[in-house]
Amino acid sequence: MYNETMYELGANSSVIREIFEYGKKRSAEIGKENVFDFSIGNPSVPAPRAVDEAIKELIEKMPSTELHGYTSAVGDTEVRGAIASYLNKTYGTNFSANNLYMTCGAAASLTITFNALSEEGDEVILFAPFFPEYKVFASNAGMKCVIVLCDSETLQVDLDAFEKAITEKTKAVVVNSPNNPSGVVLSEETIVKMCEILKLKQKEYNHPIFLISDEPYRELVYDDVKVPYLTKYYDNTIVCYSFSKSLSLPGERIGYILVPDEAEGSAYIYKAVCGAGRALGYVCAPSLMQFVIAKCIGCTSDISVYKKNRDVLVECFEKNGFKAAKPDGAFYLFLKSPERDAVAFCEKAKKFELLLVPSDSFGFPGYVRVASCVSPEVVKRSIPAFEKLAKEYGLNG
Ligand code: PLP
Repeated sequence: MYNETMYELGANSSVIREIFEYGKKRSAEIGKENVFDFSIGNPSVPAPRAVDEAIKELIEKMPSTELHGYTSAVGDTEVRGAIASYLNKTYGTNFSANNLYMTCGAAASLTITFNALSEEGDEVILFAPFFPEYKVFASNAGMKCVIVLCDSETLQVDLDAFEKAITEKTKAVVVNSPNNPSGVVLSEETIVKMCEILKLKQKEYNHPIFLISDEPYRELVYDDVKVPYLTKYYDNTIVCYSFSKSLSLPGERIGYILVPDEAEGSAYIYKAVCGAGRALGYVCAPSLMQFVIAKCIGCTSDISVYKKNRDVLVECFEKNGFKAAKPDGAFYLFLKSPERDAVAFCEKAKKFELLLVPSDSFGFPGYVRVASCVSPEVVKRSIPAFEKLAKEYGLNG
């Protein structure tokens, strides 16, 4: 009657979404101001003024049928050209509109890319902790997920484990820096070493291994930390980008896939991306948003708010005996659970109306993710709740 796998995915929604829904229910019961919902990566900082202005200008000046009509399946040529120019100016690359395919956000970028690359028996390497939907997207594209745990101290890639995990069947490796859920930014040293390993393995197995760079948090970095541009280190890189976080537009569903000319068989891969977009029904990303992006490329929302939130929370955790590294990017803190079972810890946190996500579904048990993209007000009001939670575990004397 229906597809069992799809039923399972629909019936068992993601843990993050479950907690987010619980938060909404709880807010209705006791008031929004009394719930500290750190569950979901929904930016609290508004989109920059440039976005509102671009929308107004487009509505005033562009014929409605054009503004709201279909663009080319791959996205408007001028929009893709504007993105390519921005990337070239920023990273010293040499892209053109022909390297870009507009999508409905990073989720679409990833599903399309997995489907475009996947052949029978292929494996994809995921570094844990990872964004849980990777497993859903890759498995649905027919790829087997091979999980490599990050170094437990630094949460950087464990290069020995990575090398051992690569087999003849490895088609792709997903990197996500800055990382959800850890906030870790991969160091240039790690990237160089990873790419050396990949180049040797490609030679050994005589086929390309693609680095899929999922980068919705690229611009969200603090304290002058740099995020190396991966196509400059490794030819077979495919970038999956989204404006959801950098421009605070997660509900507008806009992003892109970049297939550089340097990637092996790039013209074929680009066509396979077009084919996967077509098969999945993802042609022609939202037109209005495409045109907005062309006008706002290079802008970000005010990310200093996330840095402030990070600093206040890290200080609170340190003062109260919780263990969490200070992340360099994204807007998540990865807190070590004071008991082995992070699910039980999150249940206790709920007693104080703190909504945290256990790390089990990120493939790295024993931690919780704290999404610090909430408003500074929520962070401030949540401090006494964290203090009470720490007391429950005898962490703060
Ligand atoms: N990849 C990562 C690492 C994410 O954190 C998210 C969303 O939170 C996505 C992809 C999906 O992003 P989008 O909303 O643009 O589809």
